[in-house]
Amino acid sequence: MEIRKGDAVKVIAGADKDKHGVVLSTSPKANKVVVDGVNVMKKHQRARKANEKSGIVTEPAPIDASNVMIICPLCNTATRVEHKLDENGNKARFCKKCHANIDASKAKAKATVKKANKTSTAKKKDVADDATDAE
Ligand SMILES: [Zn+2]
Repeated sequence: MEIRKGDAVKVIAGADKDKHGVVLSTSPKANKVVVDGVNVMKKHQRARKANEKSGIVTEPAPIDASNVMIICPLCNTATRVEHKLDENGNKARFCKKCHANIDASKAKAKATVKKANKTSTAKKKDVADDATDAE
């Protein structure tokens, strides 16, 4: 399965078509994903522990992974992914459209939160690597 927790995805089929959301969890065996705000179901919940509330809660139910597409964080479009090795020999997912390393850019986005000043140089290096890959 090419979708992982934390990915931004677009729904391409079903009742919630064209909705965008972040993947909250995945079930690779069932080929299902839970997307924030997509396929939201009402659930009648009963308090079983002291910190739980009884009542009707709404929460997203799993949808088929084939009904969503990853949104590339770089070109910002719904895309298919390509599995390749990155410059360190690790398996990574690449955008079929702009050929950016989706996993690297996600890791960078996380790093950006901690260190806001390192991204600009790292991004330039990525573009150079992609250019050599295309040949
Ligand atoms: Zn892209």
